[in-house]
Amino acid sequence: MKRAIYPGTFDPMTYGHLDIIERAAKIFDEVTVGVLDNKEKTPLFSVEERVNILKEATKDLPNVKIESFGGLLSEYCKAQDIHIAIRGLRAITDFEYEFQMSMMNSKLSHNELETVYLNTTLKYSYLSSSSVKQIAQFGGELEDFVPKSVAEMLYERLYKK
Ligand code: ADP
Repeated sequence: MKRAIYPGTFDPMTYGHLDIIERAAKIFDEVTVGVLDNKEKTPLFSVEERVNILKEATKDLPNVKIESFGGLLSEYCKAQDIHIAIRGLRAITDFEYEFQMSMMNSKLSHNELETVYLNTTLKYSYLSSSSVKQIAQFGGELEDFVPKSVAEMLYERLYKK
C-alpha cells in the first residue's frame, strides 16, 4: 500500500491545498495531511482549528486523514512508517526552498523519505494562505479561495471595519 504525507502549516487551508490533496488521493492509497504544530510560529488559527477546517473539507475523501504533528517531519514519518512526502509547487520561487527541504529530509531520514512534487493547478497558482489573510484584512472577496466558513473566520479575526 502506497502511503504518503502532505505536510504544511495550512494557516488556513485554501482551495490550492485542497486541489493538491484531491489529486494526491488519486495517486496514493492513503494520504495523511500533516498539520504542523510549530510552537515557534504564531499562526492565525490554532492547530485544532486548522485540523477541523481540513477535516470538514476532506470528509468525502475516504483515503485522506488529517493529523497534527510537531517536531521533525522525518521523525514523524519514521514513527508512522510513511516514506513519501508530497509538496505543491506554485512557481519557480517555491522551488529553492522546497529543494532545500527535500534534501534535508532525505538526509535526516537516511534516504527513507522521498519528496514528490505536484504542480499547482493554473487557477490556484497565485493562491497562498498569506494572500487570503491579506485580502481578508481589507474585506475583499474570498469565495474563490477558501470555503465560506473559513472566509467568515478570517473576516472575524482580521477585518477591522
Ligand atoms: P508551509 O508553511 O509548510 O510551506 P503551507 O501550508 O503554506 O506550508 O503549504 C503547504 C504546501 O502546499 C507547500 O508545499 C506549498 O507549496 C503548497 N501550496 C500552497 N498553496 C498552494 C497552491 N495554491 N497550489 C499548489 N500548492 C500549494
